[in-house]
Amino acid sequence: MVDIIKDIETTGSWNDMRSALGNLLGLDHPVSSAVLARAREDDKFASHLFISRFDLDLLNLFLNDKRNIEYELYQIPENHSNMQLAKKATKALLEWGKTGFHTVSKEIYEQRLNSCNTCEFIRNPPHQLAYKVKLKSESDPRICGACGCGISRKARLATETCPVQDPSKKGFNLWNEPVRS
Ligand code: SF4
Repeated sequence: MVDIIKDIETTGSWNDMRSALGNLLGLDHPVSSAVLARAREDDKFASHLFISRFDLDLLNLFLNDKRNIEYELYQIPENHSNMQLAKKATKALLEWGKTGFHTVSKEIYEQRLNSCNTCEFIRNPPHQLAYKVKLKSESDPRICGACGCGISRKARLATETCPVQDPSKKGFNLWNEPVRS
């Protein structure tokens, strides 16, 4: 992680970090959650942001880079702290990145969503979210109450898994997939 991002890490909450990076880049607004998440993981991207801070056109290219969408992942309930949120999103990103950002087939995605739709843990998202970003505007906003992830995003990622074991089927979770160790 480059030094400027390390400094930003000390500013406090996730939104504080977004504001701090925005200030550092000379913006009058916080950077998006996706830009912050990418800058924390991608040293080259963070350096490009910093170097282009005096050239607004160039900076906007990086701020709106299409790859940033890969860093838009989760909606986390407000009872998760911002640091928990940041760590969780980062861990999921790393895992997802290791597989080359693979998503599941349409069939598996729908199978997973069907399980979530009838699950006792499914919840509407809280009004105040520490970290709220959308992968697609039409995404289902509901979350898994067991882990705090947005179900439509969670179900799409190959590296994600349902966190609850099926009490009626040993070794399987509520998505009817083998429990991962
Ligand atoms: S991920 Fe699993 S526990 Fe969470 S809502 Fe879906 S089925 Fe339920």
